[in-house]
Amino acid sequence: MTTTSSAAATPAERTLVLVKPDGVARGLTGEVLRRVEAKGYRIVALEMRTADDALLAEHYAEHQGKPFFAPLVEFMRSGPVVAAVVEGGRVIEGFRSLAGTTEPTGAAPGTIRGDLGRDWGTSVVQNLVHGSDSPESAAREIGLWFPAL
Ligand code: GDP
Ligand code: MG
Repeated sequence: MTTTSSAAATPAERTLVLVKPDGVARGLTGEVLRRVEAKGYRIVALEMRTADDALLAEHYAEHQGKPFFAPLVEFMRSGPVVAAVVEGGRVIEGFRSLAGTTEPTGAAPGTIRGDLGRDWGTSVVQNLVHGSDSPESAAREIGLWFPAL
């Protein structure tokens, strides 16, 4: 098959990736970013910071009112996170695929959560990473974490 115009190329998109406090504390930041880069995605912004309640309430707005919301916010502000904007073709879906399903126990081997996550013994699912779940979420979350971009 020949492709002759740029219209045939998949346009790059962007997603927000967080290495959550459990990932940073366990020294897995490099491992997460290594997998992102090995897949062929490009890190276009990167920052370590400790999130406050206001940012987390906005970031997890869709989960407000759920029983795990308060423990989730408490966990997410318990230590620094590493936030990254990652760019690539179909990267929103692709990073979710690299991350694996929400609960590490059932996440497929080969995924970040399946290989490395631990979801037992804590009040909130500690699953190492966050990745935006749609283009709308990605735009909103990138705006929250990296307002200058
Ligand atoms: P994600 O998109 O795979 O990260 O999952 P969600 O957006 O559904 O949930 C956000 C985060 O809240 C998850 O990554 C978990 O850390 C946590 N979480 C989600 N569902 C539950 C739950 O049923 N119980 C608890 N304790 N934590 C949860
Ligand atoms: Mg989510």
